[in-house]
Amino acid sequence: MKSIIRMCICCRKKIVRLELLRLQFKDNDLIIFKNSGRSFYICFNCIKGISAINEIQQKSLEIKIKNLLSKEAKNKKNYIFQLKEIVEHVG
Ligand SMILES: [Zn+2]
Repeated sequence: MKSIIRMCICCRKKIVRLELLRLQFKDNDLIIFKNSGRSFYICFNCIKGISAINEIQQKSLEIKIKNLLSKEAKNKKNYIFQLKEIVEHVG
């Protein structure tokens, strides 16, 4: 089977689909992609970086992701909390 490659919006690396989380915004909420509408991908390496908040580099990654998500959503809301909740449910 051919691997599907997509780009992570955070690190901009081209990564195998299975190692990416596909997300979208609906009514100004960050959700898992539900088969229609505009979506984007973020890799688990970048997401793992925001789970550990004790190091400066991880903090700056969190700010980067926060800004990217706001840009995608076209508003100033902080989506980091929603992203962390999604990741907890995905496992
Ligand atoms: Zn990434």
